[in-house]
Amino acid sequence: MAAGQQAGWIEEKPESHKFLRGKDYPNLCDRCKQIINSVADMYEEGLMEDTDDIEAPIMYVYDHKMYCGEHECENKSERIL
Ligand SMILES: [Zn+2]
Repeated sequence: MAAGQQAGWIEEKPESHKFLRGKDYPNLCDRCKQIINSVADMYEEGLMEDTDDIEAPIMYVYDHKMYCGEHECENKSERIL
């Protein structure tokens, strides 16, 4: 069984995302990245106000205090690995 190969399969998907996502903010914790991804999904599905701002998802997270520390990520790493 090659269970390890399935993880790489996901990463090889072509990037067609219009909005910045969790992976574009590598210093944020996983929880905050997932929330940003969820909001980006909503924007891309047309559930949110139409915008050309690629940072709209993270701005939404900020405005609605959806970070783990409300207005910011409390668990972010200082350095980008
Ligand atoms: Zn966080």
